[in-house]
Amino acid sequence: MTDMADNTNTKLIAAAFEGQKKSYCPYSQFRVGAAVVSEDGKVFSGANVENASYGGAICAERTSLVKAVSEGCTNLSGLAVVSDLDEPITPCGICRQFLREFFAPRTPILLVSQSHHANANRRDTDYAGEVVIKTNIEELLPRSFGPEQLG
Ligand SMILES: [Zn+2]
Repeated sequence: MTDMADNTNTKLIAAAFEGQKKSYCPYSQFRVGAAVVSEDGKVFSGANVENASYGGAICAERTSLVKAVSEGCTNLSGLAVVSDLDEPITPCGICRQFLREFFAPRTPILLVSQSHHANANRRDTDYAGEVVIKTNIEELLPRSFGPEQLG
């Protein structure tokens, strides 16, 4: 990975933790944050937004994507997802399909443990417990249906 990619990933993960602070989750208490970056470097963070009508809840991944797309950014080059868990969480099925619409098969998706944030002020040698899984939509949603099928 190049330094430029590292810097973008660091920025993206920080934005996902920033987004998480705005989580509206009075029912689950499960705070999720996400951030997407456009090819021209714009970052859009998001959080999960729940609703008293539970089915109306929107995940952090889709919040960040909708923010980007509604601002005219559909060329996206990365996503980071964070929660309060020590193990990284993965996008739900609906979010995977939503990501499929705008992400190339191998656009990087970073799934990040809470400890990454806890270690934000770490020394270079102090990465205890930190986990960042790098995946993509090809892995998360194999043999998927997408825009190409509709011509
Ligand atoms: Zn989801």
